[in-house]
Amino acid sequence: MKFDFKNLFQPLFVFYVLVVYILATFFWWSTLHVQKNKQIFQDQIALMQLQYEKQGKDPQTVFESAQYLAIEDKLNKQNMMICGEGLVFLLLLGMGIFKIHSGFRKELMLNRQQRNFLLSITHELKSPLAGIKLALQTITKRKLSEENQTRLLNNSLKDSERLQNLVNNLLMAAKLDGEDIVFAKEQHNVGNLLHSILDKFTPHSSFKRNFQIDIAPNLFVKGDRTALTSVFLNLIENAIKYSQEGDTVGVSVFQKNQKLYVEISDTGIGVPDNEKKKIFKKFYRVGNEDTRKTKGTGLGLFIVKQLVEKHGGRIVLKDNQPKGSIFCMEFPLLKVANKPAVSPSENKGIDWELRNAS
Ligand code: ADP
Repeated sequence: MKFDFKNLFQPLFVFYVLVVYILATFFWWSTLHVQKNKQIFQDQIALMQLQYEKQGKDPQTVFESAQYLAIEDKLNKQNMMICGEGLVFLLLLGMGIFKIHSGFRKELMLNRQQRNFLLSITHELKSPLAGIKLALQTITKRKLSEENQTRLLNNSLKDSERLQNLVNNLLMAAKLDGEDIVFAKEQHNVGNLLHSILDKFTPHSSFKRNFQIDIAPNLFVKGDRTALTSVFLNLIENAIKYSQEGDTVGVSVFQKNQKLYVEISDTGIGVPDNEKKKIFKKFYRVGNEDTRKTKGTGLGLFIVKQLVEKHGGRIVLKDNQPKGSIFCMEFPLLKVANKPAVSPSENKGIDWELRNAS
């Protein structure tokens, strides 16, 4: 195997060389210090014994003198001080090493995530654009039957929606990062909101999933329609993306203990226990084969968690039985005195404009 000299100058390698050098120097100087103290102590005793001899006293009686006891006490205190200071030094050094090491690991992870993000975003932008271009070229250059034309146009429409969702997710993630986003506090019928999203999926046989929908009527939540739509859409899209033909995708809404619960489940690939928290981080994608086969940027669940929390709710991921995932959300339930007061914006189709404070 060829030795790579460049590795010698990797920052972490240089750092650990420095740490080893500091530790070696530290142990060498402390041992030397202890030995020198001992040497001085022994010299002082020898000197005292000489003086005793000159005075005609027994040199062994030095060990019973008060002066000897004082010198011995001083030596013990100095050794204790060296040990104490050494321990504090080692503790501080340990903390420093831990901080630098974890900072370095974070930076490496960030670099890797950025690279993965750039690769996936390029792919996510390229493939729908290529699809739309091909469809339009085919329509303009060839004489197609009306049925084929409609099929190509529908595919292009789906591709453009994919692009639009991607751009919206990017915009939302950037705004959430800036923390200057202010959400509308309108009253929304969660059932109506979910039905308007599900209408995009359920009529299309192309998805080939069994949709199990169990939505209690007239449950309301306070918040921003665009943000709530983004939450539910991301989760339903994921439930479809990470499951296969014939799997079940469930959407249920219910009320319990004055809270509103929305659960979006699937019988797909599921998420391993050690990844359950990580998947809510920005750009994070589970690194297994199943996930790598699917398209994505790792932004969806980051946005979902932030938006749920900004609406006073929380989200947890549980295992579905026999397999798959359930994303359970809990929101404060909005008490509505009269019959369902549909907010004006609820009759519109999905509106992707982001409302920003600025
Ligand atoms: P993306 O889907 O674009 O990769 P997300 O943030 O939506 O990004 O999801 C992050 C990761 O969480 C995904 O890459 C996938 O590994 C995992 N994941 C999300 N939803 C599900 C699900 N319903 N079933 C299994 N894994 C999921």
